[in-house]
Amino acid sequence: MLAIEFHPGIYIDLRFAPLALAGMFGGPIAAGLALSMAAAFRFVVGGTAMVDGITTMAAAAGIGMAGHFWSRKRSLGLLDVALLGLAVGGVLVVSMALLPTLVIAHVLSGVGFPLTALNCMATALGGFVLLKTQQWELERSILVTAFSQSPDYLYVKDRNSRFITVNENMTRLFRFRSTAEMTGLSDFNLLSRPLAEELYYLEQQVMDTGVPLIDSNELIEGRCLLASKVPVRDKQGRVIGLAGVTRDVTERTTLERELRESKNLLSHAMANMSDGIAMYDSRGFLIFCNEQYRSAFPLSGDARVVGAHISDILRRIIETGERPDIPDGDPEEWIKAASTSLHSNKDEEVQLHNGDWRSIRTRLAEDGTAMAVVSNITATKEAEIALRLSAEQLKNLAETDGLTGMVNRRAFDEAFARETAGSARKNTPFSLLMVDVDRFKAYNDTYGHPAGDQCLRTVSKCLRQSVSRPADIVARYGGEEFVVFLPDTSAKGAMIVAEQFARRLGQENINHSGSEFGRVTASIGISCATGAVLRTNPNRLLTEADAALYDAKSQGRNRILAHSPNPERHALKDVG
Ligand code: GH3
Ligand code: MG
Ligand code: MG
Repeated sequence: MLAIEFHPGIYIDLRFAPLALAGMFGGPIAAGLALSMAAAFRFVVGGTAMVDGITTMAAAAGIGMAGHFWSRKRSLGLLDVALLGLAVGGVLVVSMALLPTLVIAHVLSGVGFPLTALNCMATALGGFVLLKTQQWELERSILVTAFSQSPDYLYVKDRNSRFITVNENMTRLFRFRSTAEMTGLSDFNLLSRPLAEELYYLEQQVMDTGVPLIDSNELIEGRCLLASKVPVRDKQGRVIGLAGVTRDVTERTTLERELRESKNLLSHAMANMSDGIAMYDSRGFLIFCNEQYRSAFPLSGDARVVGAHISDILRRIIETGERPDIPDGDPEEWIKAASTSLHSNKDEEVQLHNGDWRSIRTRLAEDGTAMAVVSNITATKEAEIALRLSAEQLKNLAETDGLTGMVNRRAFDEAFARETAGSARKNTPFSLLMVDVDRFKAYNDTYGHPAGDQCLRTVSKCLRQSVSRPADIVARYGGEEFVVFLPDTSAKGAMIVAEQFARRLGQENINHSGSEFGRVTASIGISCATGAVLRTNPNRLLTEADAALYDAKSQGRNRILAHSPNPERHALKDVG
C-alpha cells in the first residue's frame, strides 16, 4: 500500500493500518491471515529491513488483536478506533527508534513523522468505515429478520403487481420453498382469476392514486384477512410499486364473535332471570348488578348503582327503614359490621318493611369479589310460617285434652319426666296430687253424660285456680282422674293446694243425689319426693299418690291423704 523505497531495501507504506484493523475487527484468524500474506509479500520483496519490517507488522497485528480482546464484551466505538490509531503510531515510533536496520538508516528522523501520522490516520479512517459498515449490516439484518420472520404476510410488488420479494410466511402460505421462487409471480399465478382481478384492480388503484389502502378486509379461501397496501416511490416521487402487509385475523374474528355471542347470552340470561345478581369488588364497591337486584329492594334500589359502596347502600336502608330487623343503637356500628361481613360466604333471610321476604346468598370468589344472589322468598316464607303455626297448633291439640283444655296424659308423661329430672338436679322437693271425683259413675247415671262432662270441666277449673306458680301443671290423667304436679313444693305446700281445691269444689256446690255428701266431692292422694328418689325412680311418686288416693277412697272419700312410708301414719285430712 503506497510503498515507497526510502533506502535500498527499506520500504515505507501504510500496511500497518489494515493489519491492526484486521486484528481488532476480525480477531486472531483474520489477523493471522492478513499478517501471513503481508509477511510473505515482504519476504518476496526482500531487502535489508525485511526482518524489521515483518517484526513491526507483527506488532501492529498484535496491537489490533489486543484491542479485539480488550473490547470483547462490548461493541466497538469511535474511541476504540482512535486509540488503535495512536497505538499503531506508537508501535511505529518505537520500531524506528529501536530496530537496528531502521536506526542505522535514520528512518525515524527522515520519514518518522509523516509515516506515523499517515498510518495513524489510515487506521482511524479505516476503523471508522468498518464501524459504519458494521452498523449498516446490523440494521439490515434486523430489517431482514423483521421482514422475513414477521407473523404477518409481507410482500413488495412492482408497478405491475408482481412480487419483488415476500417474507417466509408468504412462501409457506403458497407452499414455495424459497422467496426467490415467488419473485416475478403475481396473484394471477396463485389465486382464482376473479379474486386475482379484484386484488389487481385495488393495487393498481393504490399505485395510480398514491393513496394507501389501510386495513381492508379480504376473504381468501375461508380466511379473514386484514390487508394494508402502501405505495413505494423512487427518489423522484414516482410510484414504482407497493408494499403490503396482510394479517390473518380469522381466529381473532371467530373469538370476537364467540365472545360477543356469549356476552349477549349472559346479559340476556342476567336480564331475564328471576333472581337479582350483584358483584362487589374486594373493597366493597358494586361492580355489577342486574335490574332485578335493584327492584328486589324497592326503597334502597336507587342507591344500588355500579360504583356505589356497600356502606352507602346500607345507610340508605336505614334512612328509608327498609329493613325492620336492624337492631337499635348506633347505625354506623351496624353499617360497619354489615359492610365487613359482606366478604364472607353466608345465606341470609331478611324481611322488608312491606312484609316481603328476600333470601341473600353471598359467595366469595378467590380474588375477593363477593357475589350476591337475591331471591324473592315471600311466598315460601309465608307458607313456612303458616306451617309452623299449624304445627304448633297441632302440637297443642295433641297435648291438650279436648274436654277440659288441660294437658293430656301424653303431654303429662313428657312433662313429668322433664320436671322430676329438673327437681332432682336442683335437689328440691317435688309433690304430686292425684285427684279422683267421688261417685262419678253414679253422677253420670243420675244426670246423664253431658252433665257429667260439664261437671268434669268445673272440677278442672277448680284445679287450675288452685295452683299459682307457672311451673305447676294440671293434667287429665284419665276419666275423672286428674294429676297436679308441683315442682319445688314440699308435702306441706301440696297439702295447701289440695285443700284449696277441695274448698273451691265445695264452693261450686254441684248437686249429686247419688253421693253420701249430696254434692260432688273428690278424694286426693299426695306424694312427695326429693333428690335420690326423683333421680332413680320418679314413678314411685305416682304409685305412692295412687296408694294414698286408694286409702282416701276406702276411708270414706271426700278427703286428702298424704302418702307416708307407714300406711298407719297416713296424714289424713277430712275435708267433708
Ligand atoms: P269412686 O268414688 O270410687 O271413684 O267411684 P266412681 O263411680 O267415681 O268410680 P269409677 O272410676 O268406677 O267411675 C268413673 C266413671 O267416670 C266411669 C265413667 O262413666 C265416668 N267417666 C269417665 N270419663 C268420663 C267423661 O269423659 N265424661 C263423663 N261424663 N263421664 C266419664
Ligand atoms: Mg276413677
Ligand atoms: Mg271416681
